[in-house]
Amino acid sequence: MTFDWHYALSLLSNPDFWHATLTVVELSVLVWVFAIILGFVLALAKQSQYKALSVSSGLYIWFFRSLPLLVLLVFIYNLPQIFPSTSQVLASPFFAGFVAMLLSEAAYIAEIHRGGLNAVAKGQIEAGKALGMQYAGIQRLIVIPQALRIALPSLGNEYVTIVKLTSLVSVISLTEILLVGQRLYTQNFLVMETMLAVAFYYVLIVTLFGWLMQFLEKRMDVTRKKSGLFTDNDPLLANIPVPAISKRKEILADQQGKYALQAINIHKSYAEHEVLKGIHLNVKWGEVISIIGPSGSGKTTFIRTLNGLESLNQGIVNVLGQPFLQDQQLTTASQAYKDQIVHVGMVFQSFNLFPHKTILENVMLAPQYHRLDTKMANKVTALAMLEKVGMKQHAKKYPHQLSGGQQQRVAIARALAMQPAVILFDEPTSALDPELVNEVLKVIEELAQEGLTMIIVTHEMNFAFKVSDRVMFMENGIVVADDTPEVLLQGDYPRLHQFIQK
Ligand code: ADP
Ligand code: MG
Repeated sequence: MTFDWHYALSLLSNPDFWHATLTVVELSVLVWVFAIILGFVLALAKQSQYKALSVSSGLYIWFFRSLPLLVLLVFIYNLPQIFPSTSQVLASPFFAGFVAMLLSEAAYIAEIHRGGLNAVAKGQIEAGKALGMQYAGIQRLIVIPQALRIALPSLGNEYVTIVKLTSLVSVISLTEILLVGQRLYTQNFLVMETMLAVAFYYVLIVTLFGWLMQFLEKRMDVTRKKSGLFTDNDPLLANIPVPAISKRKEILADQQGKYALQAINIHKSYAEHEVLKGIHLNVKWGEVISIIGPSGSGKTTFIRTLNGLESLNQGIVNVLGQPFLQDQQLTTASQAYKDQIVHVGMVFQSFNLFPHKTILENVMLAPQYHRLDTKMANKVTALAMLEKVGMKQHAKKYPHQLSGGQQQRVAIARALAMQPAVILFDEPTSALDPELVNEVLKVIEELAQEGLTMIIVTHEMNFAFKVSDRVMFMENGIVVADDTPEVLLQGDYPRLHQFIQK
């Protein structure tokens, strides 16, 4: 028997095949899109801190991944036998196929999403929390866009799987590509010719989709974005009426002598290990406090308890004279915390800029989220803050297009844009190359001169003793010394002097 090329080629213009191809595209795209959405809900639920949610989602994923699709298809298609009311929808092989494939694919895609969600750095979520954003906002604006980019290749792969799985829906008599082929060769017995045509249609769908995914991936890849610089005659810059100046000076006069932040008897343990053993710190408006001490003395832990990134075991934090955090009674879930977290800014050692957003978007994100002002006014403030740190020209760039020092200056502008009462710095220059340290220290020094209230954990001794109103020396979770630089340098503090000399 010879291979009938003429017949095989004629099948490429067979209307039944093209019709079936359309059905396969419709079914697979619908399943894919809805499974991506349902999968996200399942992935978030599985990661939830609420046991009932995470267990239910875990059970769903376990069950539907274990069940062969063919079994599920036949089951769903015959469901009207038990529940006649479902016959409206499930009598159609297309919808029965859609439901069965959606249930099954959502379970697989949930795991792909979970991989993407886990790959988003923890610092990204912390940066969102430090900007006073709530769970839903952090997920929507920070985590999900990044997780989707990470998951995109795997999601594309899953689409290909779905296209091929649609052939199974032929068992409940959906007229898809394989079924059209089977009907033909049972009449003329030209099995090889027909299957070649069947293969052609599947390969066609997958190839076209592959191109589409490549295009999407390129579009979503921020590292391919051209780096944009503002020119002086850019309309955006021209639109800025008057440089927005912070109202800090007026506030300062008004608040003189009052506390911007108070930490009273802060205790923190990790399991048996007591890291903070009763720390007290009072910070007046306009004061700059540096915290120094050997590695592992609890500096980072302390500063993170001040804005709720670490929970307290004991102690109280007040912000602007109001209770803010208190061991069991006032947690990050309390309204007092949600209302006041915007007054506490934070700059991290590793910058934690949002990589999928431009510099301007990074700085505008929190003011927009909190609706501090109109979009235009927020933009003006953001650009003014970027100007303050010498980064306005770079507003259109993405974080990866900047040096470490530049990124940290943007992170400072991002904290400033919320006009916080106090900014916490955790070793802001420790992740930088030595030649980039000074540009960041200079910015912080200028802010100190302007009267910004700051608490700075640092290893830069010269800087700490030069700009600070007070320096706090910590060791093993206790405050060994806390006074003005002059008193500390001249006083009798052998441990401190030993530490500084090193
Ligand atoms: P510093 O910033 O002064 O170097 P840290 O606050 O980072 O010190 O750490 C103080 C101590 O707390 C260290 O002994 C560290 O191992 C411990 N520690 C910090 N974070 C955790 C954590 N998440 N779980 C357990 N132990 C921790
Ligand atoms: Mg530290």
